[in-house]
Amino acid sequence: MAEKKKITLEDVYSEVETYINKPESLDLIHRAAEFAEKQHDGQLRRSGEPYVVHLYNVAYILATLHVGPETIAAGFLHDTIEDTAVSKEELGKLFTPEIAEIVESVTKIGALPYKGKDDPEYQAANHRKLFIAMAKDVRVILVKLADRLHNMRTLQYQSEASQKRIAAETMDVYAPIAHRLGISAIKNELEDLSFFYLDRESYYRIAKLVEMKKAERDESVQAMIKDISRLLTENHLEFRIFGRSKHLYSIYHKMEVKHKRFDEILDLLAIRIITKTKQNCYEVLGYIQSEYTPIPGRLKDYIAVPKTNMYQSLHTTIIGEDEKIFEIQIRTEEMDEIAERGVAAHWRYKEGSNYDTHARQKEIEEKLSWFRDFAQFTGENADDASELMTTLRHDVFEANVYVMTPKGRVIDLPSGSTPIDFAYRIHTDVGHTMVGAIVNNAMVPLNTELHTGDVVQIKTQKGTGPSEDWLKIVKSNQARNKIRAYLTRKENEKKSEHVEQGEKILADELRRRGFDPDEYMDKKKIENIVKEFGVFNYVDLMYGLVVKSISPVSLVEKLTNQRRSINEIELSKLNRKEPSRRHVQSKTGLIIPGIESMKMSLAQCCLPVYGDEVKGFITKGEGVKVHRCDCANVKGNNARLIDVQWDEEDRERLYDAGLVVLAHDRSFLFTDIVTVASQSKTPIVQITANTNRETLMASIKMKIQVHNLDQLQTLMANIKKVESVVSVERRTH
Ligand code: MN
Repeated sequence: MAEKKKITLEDVYSEVETYINKPESLDLIHRAAEFAEKQHDGQLRRSGEPYVVHLYNVAYILATLHVGPETIAAGFLHDTIEDTAVSKEELGKLFTPEIAEIVESVTKIGALPYKGKDDPEYQAANHRKLFIAMAKDVRVILVKLADRLHNMRTLQYQSEASQKRIAAETMDVYAPIAHRLGISAIKNELEDLSFFYLDRESYYRIAKLVEMKKAERDESVQAMIKDISRLLTENHLEFRIFGRSKHLYSIYHKMEVKHKRFDEILDLLAIRIITKTKQNCYEVLGYIQSEYTPIPGRLKDYIAVPKTNMYQSLHTTIIGEDEKIFEIQIRTEEMDEIAERGVAAHWRYKEGSNYDTHARQKEIEEKLSWFRDFAQFTGENADDASELMTTLRHDVFEANVYVMTPKGRVIDLPSGSTPIDFAYRIHTDVGHTMVGAIVNNAMVPLNTELHTGDVVQIKTQKGTGPSEDWLKIVKSNQARNKIRAYLTRKENEKKSEHVEQGEKILADELRRRGFDPDEYMDKKKIENIVKEFGVFNYVDLMYGLVVKSISPVSLVEKLTNQRRSINEIELSKLNRKEPSRRHVQSKTGLIIPGIESMKMSLAQCCLPVYGDEVKGFITKGEGVKVHRCDCANVKGNNARLIDVQWDEEDRERLYDAGLVVLAHDRSFLFTDIVTVASQSKTPIVQITANTNRETLMASIKMKIQVHNLDQLQTLMANIKKVESVVSVERRTH
C-alpha cells in the first residue's frame, strides 16, 4: 500500500481555489497554513518528512470534499493544541472562535482510547456514539476523517502493534461513521487500508483474484461501454459513462459474510452512467432495459427511495454479450457527488450573494434522511431541518451520556446519571461498596451529574453498603433496583435477628395466660395465621412483636382460639366470684337504657369505639348490632333503631377500629406507619397495603385496638403527619 502522490501547499491552494475565491476566505486559509507551519517547525513525522506534510494532506482531502474556509483552516491547525504550545483561546483570537472550537473537539475525540481488541465487552456502536456525541459538529468529524485517512495512508511507518490497533479502530469506528455520513470515497479507502493491515493474507488473495481476470474484464467492460454509448447517442441523451471497480474489502465482505464465490459477485463488471436530470436517468434505464435482458429482482430505484445516508441512484443488472453480467448505475452529477462525498456534499461551501439560504435549507431538509438514521438511536423523529443541529445534539448527543472507565471502556448511561449509576453499571458489588468517585481526576460528590466524555473511577471499601438516600440520586433503573434489593435483604437480616426476641415475647404471653408454650409455639401453625396480621411470613410476625406493631395479646388469642378479651381475664382474676348481671350486659361496653338484658354486639362494618355516637339496630335473631350513627348501613332504617349508651364504668376495654390510609407510595411508607402506631402503643390486629400501579397511590387498610375515640383521633392525626400520607379515614364498611 503505497502512499499516494505527494501533496504540496500549492496543490492544496489550487484545489481550494476551484471553489473558494473570496480574498478574505483565502487569507484565512493562508494565515492558518503559515501559522501551523511555524508552530510545527522542526517536528518530523515517523516517515522522516516534516510534520506539515501531514497538514497539507489533511487540508487537501478536506478541499476535495469542498468544505468551507473555516474547516480548511481547522484542517491546517488540527494538531496545534495537542502538539504545540498553542491554546484554544489563542486560536480563537488569531482566527475565529469556531475554528478554535473545531480544533479542540478534534483533539478531544482523538484522545479517546480504543480498547476494541482487548476488551471482550467492547461495543463498537457505543464507541461510535461517543465519538459523534463528542464531535458535536459534522465539521469536526470531517476533519477527523481526513486526519485518519492520511494517517492510514502512511501507516507503514508505524510499529506492527500500532498498525493493528489503528487499523482495527479505523474498521470499527471511522469507516462506519464515514459510511453513515455517506462519504463513500473515504469509507472505501479506509476499509481497504484497514483490511490490508488486519488480514494481509486475505487482502492479497482477493487482490490476486481481481487481478487475474482484469484484462478480460476490462475488455468486456470497454465493449459494453461502447455499445451503450452508441445506444444513448442515438437517442440524443447527454451522458458520461465509465467502468468502475469494486473495492477489495467489499468483495471480501460479500464472499465472507454473504458466503458467495468470487464469480458469483454480480457487480464485478460495473458501469456507471452520469446524466443530466432525474428524468434522463429513467430514460437511460428504459433504453438499457429494452436493449438488454435485465435480471429480475435486481432493479433498485434509490432515486425514488434514497438510502438513509442520502445515496441516490438507479441500479440494474443486465446480461450482455457472451452471457456476461453487468451492474449498471445511473445517476445525475449531483447524485454522484452525494454518493462520493455524502453529508459533506450538503455542507459543501458555496460562494456568492445570490445564494438562497431558504432554498438551501429546504434542500437539506428534503435530502437529509441520514439524519433519521441517527435519530433512530433515540426513536425520535425530527423533520425540521432548520433546527437540524440543535435537534441532533438534543436527541442523539444528549439523550444519553457516554462516559469512560479509566481503561477506556465506554459506558452508556441515561442523561443525568451520577457516579452511583456508573458504579452499578460496572458491577453490582462495585455499586454496593462504593464510597467515593473520581471524575476527570478530581474527587466529586456522589450526586454529581456525569457528562459525555467524563472519565470515571469508583472508590470502593469492603463492608460498606448503599444508603436509602441513593435512591433519590440515581437515574438508571438498574441502579435503583440493585439498591432496593440490597436494602430489603439487609432489613430481612435485621428481622431474623429479632426472631428469637419475638419468640420470647410470645412464649411469655402464652405462659401469662396459662397456656403451655411448647404446645402452641408450632411454627407451621403460626405460619398459617400470619396473613391475618397483615404480614407475609413468620419472621415478619416475630419482628412485629418486637417493634410492637403486632400485639402479643391478639396473637395468643388467634393461636389458642380464645376470644376472651384481656379485660375479662383481668376481671376474672380480680374477682373469682360469679360476674354480675351488669358485667354480662356490658360485654360490648354498652348499655340500653331501661333494658336489663339483651344480646348486643358491635357492628363489624363501622367498628364503633368508646366515644363514638352510636345507634342500636335490632336484627332478626342476632340481637342488637351497635353501629356508628354515620354508618351507611343504619341510615334509613329508623323503625328498627334504638338508643344505646356507652357504659361509663367500663373504660379499660379495647375496641377494634378500622382505618384507611391513602398515601403516595414510597419506600418504607408501610414501616413508618407501623412505627407511628407502635409508638403510641396501639396494637395492630391487621394491616394490608395495595398500590395502584398507575396512580402510584398506596391504600393501607389497618385494624387496630384502642380504648376510646380520643386515642383513635390522636393516632389518626399522627399518621396524617407521616411523609406522603394524603388522608386517614375511619373504615366505613
Ligand atoms: Mn493529525
